[in-house]
Amino acid sequence: MARLVRPFRSRWYHRVSEKYEYDLLVIGGGSGGLACAKEAAQHGKRVAVMDYVKPSPQGSVWGLGGTCVNVGCVPKKLMHHAALLGAGVRDARSYGWDLPAEAKVDWSTLASKLRDHVRSLNWGHRVQLQDKHVKYFNFRGSFLDKHTIRGVSSSKEVLLRAENVVLAVGLRPKYPENVPGAVEHGITSDDIFWLQKSPEKTLVVGGGYVALETAGFLRGLGLDTTLMVRSCCLRGFDQEMASLVSTSLREKGVQFLSGCQPQRVQRSQEGRLQVTWRRRKDVSEEEQKDEWDENEGQEEFDTVMWAVGRQTVTDDLQLEKAGVQTNAMTGKVLVGLDDQTSCPGVYAIGDVAEGRPELTPVAIKAGRLLAQRLFAGSTTMMDYTNVPTTVFTPLELGSVGLTEEKATALLSPDLIEVYHAYYKPLEYSVPNRNSNQCYIKVVCEREGKQRILGIHFLGPNAGEVTQGFALALRCGASYSDLKSTCGIHPTCAEELIKLQITKRSGKDPTVTGC
Ligand code: FAD
Ligand code: NDP
Repeated sequence: MARLVRPFRSRWYHRVSEKYEYDLLVIGGGSGGLACAKEAAQHGKRVAVMDYVKPSPQGSVWGLGGTCVNVGCVPKKLMHHAALLGAGVRDARSYGWDLPAEAKVDWSTLASKLRDHVRSLNWGHRVQLQDKHVKYFNFRGSFLDKHTIRGVSSSKEVLLRAENVVLAVGLRPKYPENVPGAVEHGITSDDIFWLQKSPEKTLVVGGGYVALETAGFLRGLGLDTTLMVRSCCLRGFDQEMASLVSTSLREKGVQFLSGCQPQRVQRSQEGRLQVTWRRRKDVSEEEQKDEWDENEGQEEFDTVMWAVGRQTVTDDLQLEKAGVQTNAMTGKVLVGLDDQTSCPGVYAIGDVAEGRPELTPVAIKAGRLLAQRLFAGSTTMMDYTNVPTTVFTPLELGSVGLTEEKATALLSPDLIEVYHAYYKPLEYSVPNRNSNQCYIKVVCEREGKQRILGIHFLGPNAGEVTQGFALALRCGASYSDLKSTCGIHPTCAEELIKLQITKRSGKDPTVTGC
């Protein structure tokens, strides 16, 4: 069958593609766009990438590579690591290292090292595109029609025609609405990694990944840090795990303004930022919606960072000229299982596509698979189920599969079994570190071999641990597989395969001994 179809398809393809300079034009040179472009080029296609970074309201701007490389995963993980090193220095004294009493980090050195690394990645991406004969245009793209893209830079304009267009334009941080002074005086994750000077006393507003991770590394770097959360932390995560993450941040010195909503930000005469907020009334969950206390709270900070979610930049793209439909609420591009939009030949991948997890490996994989389907005869679709993720707070939270809440709602409590344990990482013993929040939860079916539905791991190196166990989940592992796996001693990951206490038993899940 494939033999009959392919010659026909390639003749047809050749005739059609003569009308276009490119077989594929990707708008957006971030994780998804670059992966898609490089993969298409591997198959001998004529490929172009258009990438343009609109400066943040505070003027931050960066190079090729998108969010992950410039203002996301990469600088964030390095800041997180820098903060963990601080904790490591404190531990080192317990292990006998003779170190100065006060170890301090120099923000400008740290930030400049990070910038150097990011710039080397920007350069690396440009070289890779060149090596693969992918044409790079540092222009802002928009549609003239479904095959014609207009690129604009400060001084030039180009018109490119492509048979297939992939939208991979990502998202940008939101500012809160109706908070006077928010844009004028606040920064976002687009700015924090590019600050030349320490942000000093910082208020981080939000309860998602970005807020918690940022509060975690700022505190770990020794800064006075406050987190303002209007509802819960880490919505969508297992809430028992999320609440342990909050407790651990509190214990590390992050101050919480829980149930609070910012009202305004003003600059004081001394040049500091005066933030005013109101607090939610102490009422039940259902009543919570708009019950706010009359009294306002106020405090001064040096920096206010908004981490209140991300928004699309699709308005710039003139999508209506290609007939590409978006979700009116989210602004994200509506796509089918094959990533095709409402306009045949136009596709969307990564953060901008509706309903996709906003994660780098997801964007990369979706981009590669799309190029393989378009140009290499593949039929493999991206599988968006059981995508693992890790929140890089000082105590990391790794998660894959169903939360306890979701499993209970989907299957009923009688049909699931939850195995759990509080454990103490061996490394914590010498410095006598608090391990109260090191917790593991595995959600399984209750019957038969007890197929695993979800794994949640809170502790050091959760990203590394969860990556391995995500494979097990993908392979359909059960609790009995977990039990029959040999451990690696002494590690934190082995605590997962040693789990034996069920929540249902009501027994103390604290691991004792070796
Ligand atoms: P992006 O990487 O955002 O790339 C889009 C590109 O398109 C950008 O360069 C943009 O400037 C450009 N563009 C936009 N409009 C146009 C236009 N009209 N013309 C030309 N170019 C345009 N994910 C993880 O998996 N792990 C993490 O640890 C992690 N940490 C994160 C930390 C932070 C602070 C943030 C904000 C995100 C983090 N993420 C993390 C999420 C991850 O960065 C994104 O999911 C990923 O970068 C999305 O890739 P993308 O290709 O969809 O878009
Ligand atoms: P999220 O959507 O995860 O969180 C936004 C937070 O802001 C929520 O707590 C929300 O509260 C709160 N919020 C929204 N509006 C307001 C407001 N007006 N005032 C106060 N609080 C408000 O967004 P993030 O930017 O944190 O993360 C975006 C995505 O980026 C993540 O979903 C993740 O996929 C990706 N990411 C991944 C990381 C990783 O892999 N380690 C790290 C960072 C980001 P409420 O719940 O009440 O709506």
